[in-house]
Amino acid sequence: MCGIASPLDYRRFDSLLRTRLGVLRREIREALLRADTESYGELAGRVHDAEEEALADLLTDVNLAQISRAVEEIRDIDSALRRIASRTYGGCLDCGEPIDPERLGIYPAAKRCLDCQRSHESRPAAIRPPSL
Ligand SMILES: [Zn+2]
Repeated sequence: MCGIASPLDYRRFDSLLRTRLGVLRREIREALLRADTESYGELAGRVHDAEEEALADLLTDVNLAQISRAVEEIRDIDSALRRIASRTYGGCLDCGEPIDPERLGIYPAAKRCLDCQRSHESRPAAIRPPSL
């Protein structure tokens, strides 16, 4: 047709995102159930000492880390779905260039192009200017 770059198939990414959302919600539910079983079921009836308390804490931490990762990704997916609704999906939040559709196919909640994501991740976290 007439030289317009093929537009992103929003419907396809919408359904990819919603599928992923379902998977994450299930993961969270399972992690919560597991946390329940491990800290209460498995340790129930045993002598309650500091070591087992630490173990229960550790298991809870692992589950929490998994849950918070999933929650983080759900947040990204939510905002990707909003960008689909407003037809701004597929652009890099940092430089505004279109994100490689192949990258979106692998990680549809991507907010940045690969270059910006790399420099975002290599940026040291939370370095604040010295307060004078
Ligand atoms: Zn970019």
